[in-house]
Amino acid sequence: MRRFLSLPLCNDPKVDAYLTKLGLRLASKLPTRGVQYPWEFHCVNSKEINAFALPGGYVFVNRGAIEVADNEAQLAAVMGHELSHVALRHGTAQASKAQLMQGAAGIFGGIFGGSTGGALLTQGVALGAGSVLLHYSRSDETQADVMGTQALYDNGYDPRAMAQFFEKLDAETKGKNPPQFLSDHPNPGNRAARVQEEIDKLGGVPPNAKRDSPEFEAIKREVMALPVVKPPPASAASAAPAPPSGNFVDYQGSAYALKVPENWKRYEEKGSVTFAPDGGILQNGGLAYGVIVSVHQVQTDGSENALDNATQALIQELAKTNPGLKVTRGPGRVQLNGRPGLSTYLSNDSPGGGQETDWLVTVLRPEGLLSFLCVAPKAAYPDYERTFTAVLDSVRLQN
Ligand SMILES: [Zn+2]
Repeated sequence: MRRFLSLPLCNDPKVDAYLTKLGLRLASKLPTRGVQYPWEFHCVNSKEINAFALPGGYVFVNRGAIEVADNEAQLAAVMGHELSHVALRHGTAQASKAQLMQGAAGIFGGIFGGSTGGALLTQGVALGAGSVLLHYSRSDETQADVMGTQALYDNGYDPRAMAQFFEKLDAETKGKNPPQFLSDHPNPGNRAARVQEEIDKLGGVPPNAKRDSPEFEAIKREVMALPVVKPPPASAASAAPAPPSGNFVDYQGSAYALKVPENWKRYEEKGSVTFAPDGGILQNGGLAYGVIVSVHQVQTDGSENALDNATQALIQELAKTNPGLKVTRGPGRVQLNGRPGLSTYLSNDSPGGGQETDWLVTVLRPEGLLSFLCVAPKAAYPDYERTFTAVLDSVRLQN
């Protein structure tokens, strides 16, 4: 189970400085309703055409987006669109309050201890699986297009670049797997027409509207010459960890208590605790053997489908960092410490190679969706099942 989405950064100060200058210029024209965002802009060393902003004002632009842009106005368009999502506070309902309040520390997870954004952003970024990568609705998209078009216009750029960038993206990716960008930013359908309508309202394209700059062309060349970072290969399957002890020790969390084998260690991160034997967590951060207990902020309507819906949303979120994840059985109704829960079995690529089995048990609590994710390689799963069952049987929910 990959627990984080890691982003290799370009670490090119010239490129980041350029993105920062352009981004701050765009941001200065956005209505942020008095909120001062600590904007930070970074280039991600990924060829995939993507850019995304986290609710606190951290903006990541993939090199692929810079390379595909025909001119500075198109790059400004995609950045203006992202910044508009932040200014419009899209996605703040999806990110937990705690994450928003704690800014970078909350978003980037406790694996970095107390490090601040600046310190941890020197190498690469690991984003916790869940709630930080946002899917926008079609109406969010239209709003971001409109506000982004205004920001282009106010900065003297040709505002038609907004529709042009998205059209280019559609054309570039015809017949291929659509990039993540297009599933996060669904096409509202009438994008070009809506952007044109906004341009008309603004009084048309200014006669001297800026489309490109020598600086952009220089940065694009710089980016194209950067070495390509390949995702790290799954570390070779190391020796299997020692079998789980039959002696259990108590763990007391804020919302629940449970017992785990005494030879497992505990790794606390923001919103989750991982219990694993030595060797259960691999160098790439993936969990090969152990249990992850997490609390996920959910919006519940109190309906009888609330648990099903929240569980479904969690599985989709996990699938973002685990593309091989598939439901193999369930969800089925279970009881967890007397409360109604759901039990789902999944198969997944093990971070150590081969396949793994994941047993997910979820229950709704006042704090959110509480999930217990039990992970072991498929071949070893039968040996671990008794331990996982004992851990789940020991769960005591507070209140
Ligand atoms: Zn969008």
